[in-house]
Amino acid sequence: MFERGVSATVPPVRSLEEAFPRFRARDPSTVRVLGDVRERAHAFAQQHVRPLALDIDQRAAADPRYVDWDLVKAGCEHGLLSLAIPSAAGGQGGLVQEMCVTLEELCAACPGVGNIFGAHGLGMLPLLVTGVTHWDGLLHDIAVAERQGRPVLMACAVTEPDAGTDVEEVDLMRRGKITSRAVLVAGGWRLNGTKRFISNGSLADWVTVCMPSDPKRPAETWTCFLVDAHSEGFSVGRVEHKMGQRACPAAELIFDDVFVPDERVVGRPGDGMPSTLLVLAASRPAVAAIATGIARGAYDRVLGWLEQEPTLIGRQQVQLALARMEEEIHLARQGYLDAATEVDATISPALHHPLVRAMRMVPSSTRRRPLVRRWITSPWARQTTVAVLRHTVTDRAVTRSLALSSLAKAHAADVAVSVTGLALELVGLDAGEIRAELEKLWRDAKLTQIYEGTNQLNRLTVYRGLSRQETMVALPPSRLRLVGGRQ
Ligand SMILES: Cc1cc2nc3c(=O)[nH]c(=O)nc-3n(C[C@H](O)[C@H](O)[C@H](O)COP(=O)(O)OP(=O)(O)OC[C@H]3O[C@@H](n4cnc5c(N)ncnc54)[C@H](O)[C@@H]3O)c2cc1C
Repeated sequence: MFERGVSATVPPVRSLEEAFPRFRARDPSTVRVLGDVRERAHAFAQQHVRPLALDIDQRAAADPRYVDWDLVKAGCEHGLLSLAIPSAAGGQGGLVQEMCVTLEELCAACPGVGNIFGAHGLGMLPLLVTGVTHWDGLLHDIAVAERQGRPVLMACAVTEPDAGTDVEEVDLMRRGKITSRAVLVAGGWRLNGTKRFISNGSLADWVTVCMPSDPKRPAETWTCFLVDAHSEGFSVGRVEHKMGQRACPAAELIFDDVFVPDERVVGRPGDGMPSTLLVLAASRPAVAAIATGIARGAYDRVLGWLEQEPTLIGRQQVQLALARMEEEIHLARQGYLDAATEVDATISPALHHPLVRAMRMVPSSTRRRPLVRRWITSPWARQTTVAVLRHTVTDRAVTRSLALSSLAKAHAADVAVSVTGLALELVGLDAGEIRAELEKLWRDAKLTQIYEGTNQLNRLTVYRGLSRQETMVALPPSRLRLVGGRQ
């Protein structure tokens, strides 16, 4: 059992229907599942994470490699590493909505700790959006290890020293200074290059990493690989001294001729860019939820403190400020939920396609047999996955999801920065530990405007995808045509 730093009281959480009024009109069983996920995350966050948040922040300021592994293990006890793993692979089968409500709760307590679990989810996303290939390999192993109390963490590495914004958009990538390279060799690929600012980079056992095979055609040859962090040639370079979210280290990852076998290519070679855009569509609502959690954490703390200060809370000016914060947080939350609902609705038909349903019905033990696994990871099976995706999802639907996710992310990040700033102004200098917590949340908030694409880039995506109704995403072409189909 996890004991250290347990707080005696858990502040109440608002009911799901109160936080998200639209749930009054939804199927009660879905609402119940989501409500349970949210309450479990709330209890874990308030009992275990919040009491340690300031201490971890200070330790990580002194040593950016510091990680509270006990807390990560406690997260295992609460199923935080397998939340998004399909139930057919031994996980909990959560989609983007489940990830988001969990992250809001974790980040209301400590955004850095929340981001360890968020970055793990980001690392898994390329494996999740590219079909069943990796379910019975790594994803199954993560779920089993979690049940044994052994955290197996992931990270996702896209950013390079001279290419951050440029690797998050197709047109920019063609002009970007990408220096990493993947070279095809017998039985697999050799990876060379450096990735920078990778959350969980120094903790992860496995990294999903994207590199081009042809520097002159990066967008067309961008490929995602699953790399074992214990591989020869892989090393962790500088770990950043961070301003906020310090509990989650951001590291430089160095690939020096790292060999990756063919079966660990994620999706098909060259399909990395459309997959990255699908990943961003699913991960930006999660960043919006992190930002909403930060704002809510600040609001909860300042409200709790002001309730002990009758002269202050009696002032209309203070009440107006609190109402403003409530308003901003509510709208940020509706934004991430809209985006998460849209993404889940966009990808669900692919998850429920008869071919995928048939795969789910085959017992995992059978799917893990070497012969069956060889078939599942074969080029033919990967081709079928792409065909299913094209059969069920349109380029426009993915663009719309990406744009809504970008809208939610940029808005919520600005809300996090403004609400934490306002909270600090309200408590002034006399609020002791609450002030220290608010200062930390204010530092934590800034990063949400930067990662998963800066707010500027996200807003340009909103302009192109929603205002101009452009179709910015081109899903990978399929040589295989399934009967029917939407495009
Ligand atoms: C702590 C931390 C954790 C991170 N975690 C990860 C991770 O886990 N995995 C990962 O792959 N990456 C990660 N990142 C990288 C992050 O996604 C990038 O920092 C981000 O995409 C911005 O890239 P950049 O830092 O190179 O800034 P730049 O791209 O150099 O941008 C600098 C400024 O110019 C603006 N700008 C750039 N291009 C344009 C344009 N075309 N139009 C308008 N404005 C533009 C930007 O908005 C920004 O204000 C992390 C970053 C940080 C700081």
